[in-house]
Amino acid sequence: MDKRIGIIGAGVAGLHLGLHLRRHNVPVTIVTDREPEAYAGSRLINTVAHHHITLERERGLGIGHWDDRDHHYFCHHHYFGGPQPLHFRGDFAAPSRAVDYRLYLPALMRDFIAAGGEIEYRQVAAEDLSRLAARFDLVVVSTGKGVLGHMFDHREELSPYDRPQRMLSVGLYTGIRDADPRGVTLSVSPGQGELIEIPTLTFDGMATALLFENIPGGDLEILARMSYDDDPKGFIQTVLDKLEAHHPTVYDRVDKARFGIRGSVDLLQGGIVPTVRQSYVALDDTTLAVALGDVHAVMDPMVGQGANMASHAAVVLGEEIVAQDVFDARFVETVDRRRNDRVLSALRWTNLMLAPPSDDLLMLIGTMSADRALADEFTDNFNYPERQWDRLASPARIRAWLAERETARAAA
Ligand SMILES: Cc1cc2nc3c(=O)[nH]c(=O)nc-3n(C[C@H](O)[C@H](O)[C@H](O)COP(=O)(O)OP(=O)(O)OC[C@H]3O[C@@H](n4cnc5c(N)ncnc54)[C@H](O)[C@@H]3O)c2cc1C
Repeated sequence: MDKRIGIIGAGVAGLHLGLHLRRHNVPVTIVTDREPEAYAGSRLINTVAHHHITLERERGLGIGHWDDRDHHYFCHHHYFGGPQPLHFRGDFAAPSRAVDYRLYLPALMRDFIAAGGEIEYRQVAAEDLSRLAARFDLVVVSTGKGVLGHMFDHREELSPYDRPQRMLSVGLYTGIRDADPRGVTLSVSPGQGELIEIPTLTFDGMATALLFENIPGGDLEILARMSYDDDPKGFIQTVLDKLEAHHPTVYDRVDKARFGIRGSVDLLQGGIVPTVRQSYVALDDTTLAVALGDVHAVMDPMVGQGANMASHAAVVLGEEIVAQDVFDARFVETVDRRRNDRVLSALRWTNLMLAPPSDDLLMLIGTMSADRALADEFTDNFNYPERQWDRLASPARIRAWLAERETARAAA
């Protein structure tokens, strides 16, 4: 049977789905509001790290542009501040990688076109949907955080917050030496927020993404409010002061003479309300619209899951489109059964990390600092949020994990 699939939005979700479908010769059209040429010189979109499970999925999609070891990183360096700071490392089973999405998305758009996909460039509004329903057997809405996604109702039972839990300030910086071995640093300033430092490939080579996750009302929130353009020097000095006070293992690697934002567009400030939306709506009697990526589940970026989940869900949806002929409510149930364990685990785990830590979580962190195998498992679980959530979903599970490790250490 001929299947005509329409995708709205050419982010990671829409493009991974489109590339999967083209590998199976399914006719597919992406309608999106940004041409590939519009990305160079535009404002930073995000600072996304792809974990090794996503890199493996990309290889399956034929995306092989950045498989160079010089662009990879290998571990997480954890720092927990406080009266007795903890500093430890966890390794991945295989390398991870972060590429500036202003490079990544246009490259994938070109790959999609080269694979026989069609792209139409325009902004889609709610009133255009009935026309799209007439053209396609299934419409996938992967428009990220924009308003079109609000056509899917918000699921209150899975969306506990009504406002951002962190005020974000993220930029691409120069003048920071990589940690050794090259890795992402996750630095926690208790009660104030977190810093995620990511070695990132951008237009002119490697730079350092600093993603400050600042607790509203705390000492670091100013980083999400201050204008760089109004006072570039004052902004950079404030970043340095906050790094020194709250995130010292990153501060120690800063070369102050070279430290700065790569360019004035390489800074993004704001906040995200973690939200889950319904999986589909009927556009007419025969055609459904399915929510994908951030439209379906948007999460705070603290543990770097949104794009990795969008990719996972895109390929699950693609596999089901290839396997099935009828795109009805039962079709979406099958997709949800396969995508949701991982996607919702990522969201719940992220939400747990946004809340003040429980005593059990603090105990886990303390134990990780002295138990390398535990830190490695926690780190590699960034690839498998459902496994992380199996470990963290309740205090009893955290205690069971700690007991298991104690037995393993005693036996070693
Ligand atoms: C600072 C920051 C850091 C992050 N770090 C990570 C990380 O380390 N790891 C991770 O996995 N995730 C991370 N994320 C999350 C990640 O960026 C998102 O989850 C992911 O990009 C969502 O992809 P998407 O395809 O669903 O949506 P998007 O990437 O937002 O794509 C939406 C597409 O739709 C188009 N569009 C929008 N509206 C319309 C319309 N009306 N008509 C036509 N086209 C439209 C847009 O132009 C775009 O092409 C981070 C996010 C932020 C903000």
